[in-house]
Amino acid sequence: RKLSVGNVQEVEGEKIGNGQSRILVFVRLRPMGKKEREAGSKCCVRIVNKRDVYLTEFANENDYLRLKRLRGRHFTFDASFPDSTTQHEIYSTTTAELVEAVLQGRNGSVFCYGATGAGKTYTMLGTIENPGVMVLAIKDLFNKIRHKSFDGHNVVHLSYLEVYNETVRDLLSPGRPLVLREDKQGIVAAGLTQYRAYSTDEVMALLQQGNLNRTTEPTRANETSSRSHAILQVVIEYRVKDASSNIINRVGKLSLIDLAGSERALATEQRTLRSIEGANINKSLLALSSCINALVEGKKHIPYRNSKLTQLLKDSLSGSCNTVMIANISPSDLSFGETQNTLHWADRAKEIRMKTCDVNEEIQIPDSGEKQAKLLLELQKENR
Ligand code: ADP
Ligand code: MG
Repeated sequence: RKLSVGNVQEVEGEKIGNGQSRILVFVRLRPMGKKEREAGSKCCVRIVNKRDVYLTEFANENDYLRLKRLRGRHFTFDASFPDSTTQHEIYSTTTAELVEAVLQGRNGSVFCYGATGAGKTYTMLGTIENPGVMVLAIKDLFNKIRHKSFDGHNVVHLSYLEVYNETVRDLLSPGRPLVLREDKQGIVAAGLTQYRAYSTDEVMALLQQGNLNRTTEPTRANETSSRSHAILQVVIEYRVKDASSNIINRVGKLSLIDLAGSERALATEQRTLRSIEGANINKSLLALSSCINALVEGKKHIPYRNSKLTQLLKDSLSGSCNTVMIANISPSDLSFGETQNTLHWADRAKEIRMKTCDVNEEIQIPDSGEKQAKLLLELQKENR
């Protein structure tokens, strides 16, 4: 199968990132939850304008009294969304252009990153009344293919899978763990269901069922494990005619990823390296960060092999890497530490993108899990 090139470069250049590897970083603040309100929590985050997030550093009164002053910190992102933002606004600002690139025959990925309860699954999957990025992206793909396809022929395949404790499972057809194999197209999960979708209507139910198949914590039978990564892969194929009437087959792949809760990977300053190890570091989450770093720094060796998640995302991340990160945060001061960690990490992801030509030794992440954890810890301290 041949990938078309056409005028992709132009489109990419304008809309995605001037031919450079870059990660667009967005922050979404969710509304205060009922439990948080009942626990008397205060809001410690404010979206100041369309790009800035203000985190009140000492929302806690004891901290305030101790430090005798109130300080806050501003962060700037490609866009920051207040809690009133609709699912459609999130989709159109973060993902619509990526969908356009996928229609041009490119690969793209959207990651939702943040602590458990911060709103990742709501953003990605959403509800029947308010479908999220996964559903809105597929809807948009269907609509646009219909306009772009010259003969009406199109194929949309969906795969939905989970990485949990370095085990890969098919969420559309639960059963034994899947084995990852390398073939001509790259790394594939052997036997993974490729569901051919014909309309958007069936997709929400399919994905909701898939989500119910995600691994749950043994102690909380009804809750999805915070250590489970869910990956929806949408592969589209359709035909266009170029200026000289040649028929071109276009294939593009969009990966939409609801990552595991970041709280276990990004330990807080108070924790020692030993306790991070004890807390069962999410190997896949750390490996993802080191791959993104290596890609943006233009390294020859990208450590995809370090985890199942990065092996699966290899072809979405490599080459011209169109990657979007949505960092989800809670407004509650009860989640202050997690929010701070998420914002620091999101902020760093943004910085790395801006330093594509200027290699900064400090942000190189070594391959081993232990070194990664140590480095992350140092980076977090530095960021404070
Ligand atoms: P995560 O997947 O990050 O663990 P969830 O997406 O499950 O978090 O969100 C936690 C709770 O907050 C859920 O009940 C969800 O419906 C609600 N929620 C999250 N984001 C929003 C939002 N933007 N608007 C309304 N409710 C939200
Ligand atoms: Mg979730």
